[in-house]
Amino acid sequence: MGSPQVPIDVDPGTGIWRTDGLPMIYLPRHFLVNNHVAVEEALGRDAYRAILHKATEKSAIHWCQAESKTHGLTRAATFRHYFKRLSQRGWGQFSVDRLEASGERGGSISLHNSVFALELRGRCQTPLCYMFEGFITGAFGFLVRGAEPGEETGPVSCVESWCAGDGVHRHCEFDFGCP
Ligand SMILES: [Zn+2]
Repeated sequence: MGSPQVPIDVDPGTGIWRTDGLPMIYLPRHFLVNNHVAVEEALGRDAYRAILHKATEKSAIHWCQAESKTHGLTRAATFRHYFKRLSQRGWGQFSVDRLEASGERGGSISLHNSVFALELRGRCQTPLCYMFEGFITGAFGFLVRGAEPGEETGPVSCVESWCAGDGVHRHCEFDFGCP
């Protein structure tokens, strides 16, 4: 077994965990996934997926802005750093397989051992990992337009094209781009 690859600082006075200065929470996988499924059941998948997309996209942009400043990273390096950190924090193992930041902007990302696929395989309708679609549009939006107003490129879209939760595929696959 290995040790965490992310730096974790615990404030002895407040008990707050931080990585790179950002407050973090360490929680059981089943807790996160049970909450996720409960909200999906209450709202219906389409409504929840849309809400989640917006919220996670916003959070991804916030994270990329903060990390880009903290480490002095370019937008492209921040994009890759984001998926490395998600992988190091246990969400699953993300791999950026294709990335075009100019011209036909878009790419594809594969994901092995997704928390949702591992926890819900065979129990829910696939694709299971749509929460990550907003993670990806946020990070890619940051890459192509950064935090600069007036650099609008239009919305970024992303879809989980297939999901290991179906018991057929070995990993999940996300395709994204600026339509
Ligand atoms: Zn999946």
